[in-house]
Amino acid sequence: MKLIIMGPPGAGKGTQAAYIKKYYNIPHISTGDMFREAIKEETDLGLEAKSYIEKGALVPDSVTIGLVEERLSKSDCKDGFLLDGFPRTIPQAKALDEILHNLKIKLDAVINISVPDSVLVDRIVGRRVCKNCGAGYHIHNQKPRQDGVCDVCGGPLIQRKDDTEETVVNRLKVYSSQTKPLLEYYDKAKLVKTVNGIGDIQEIFKNIQNLLGGNE
Ligand code: AMP
Repeated sequence: MKLIIMGPPGAGKGTQAAYIKKYYNIPHISTGDMFREAIKEETDLGLEAKSYIEKGALVPDSVTIGLVEERLSKSDCKDGFLLDGFPRTIPQAKALDEILHNLKIKLDAVINISVPDSVLVDRIVGRRVCKNCGAGYHIHNQKPRQDGVCDVCGGPLIQRKDDTEETVVNRLKVYSSQTKPLLEYYDKAKLVKTVNGIGDIQEIFKNIQNLLGGNE
C-alpha cells in the first residue's frame, strides 16, 4: 500500500496512521515527526524548522521536499509507505509526483479524514503526546490510565508547543488555504477516499480498511 493520509490538524491522522502502519506493515513517514525529532536533536534542519513550526507556519518547500525524497528513496519504502503531513502544498504534491515517477512507484490512495472545523480547536488544544514514544492522548476523549503518564512506555505526557490556541488558529488557516486544495488535485487522479473522522477510533479505522479494500 502506497498511501497518503490527509486531513486538517486535529483530524486524527496520527492516531489512524499508527493503526494503518501496523495493519499494513508499512513505514509511517510523518514530516511533522521528522521535524520534531530534528528539533530535539538540535540539528541544522531542526534549527531551521523550529521558528516556522512554533508559529504554526509551513516549513519552506525547499527544505521539506528534499527530506521526503531522501526518505522515500530508502529500501523500506519499496513495498509501501504511509505519508502523513506531506504533501501540504500544491508545489509539494507536484514534487512528489516527480519523485514517485523517478522511483517507478504509483500511489494507491489518498485517505482524507473529514472533521468539521467546530471540533478541531478542542481536539488540538486538549491533545497530549508522550515525550518518549510519541503516543497520542486527549485530556477528555482519550485519557491515559494514569494522569500524565503514557500507557505504552510510562513516559511523561506533554503538550506540543504548536498545540496552543493561538497557534492552532493559524494552522487551521494554513490548512484551508494551502493544503485543502490538494483534495481537488488528487480527486482528478481518482485517488481520494474520504472517511468521517468523528466517532470511535476503531470504527474509523474499520471504515478506512473498507475504503482501501474497495468495498465502497
Ligand atoms: P504535523 O505534525 O503534521 O501537524 O506538523 C507540525 C508542523 O510541522 C506543521 O504545522 C508545519 O509547521 C511543519 N510541517 C510538517 N509537515 C510539513 C510539510 N509537508 N510542509 C511544511 N511544513 C510542514
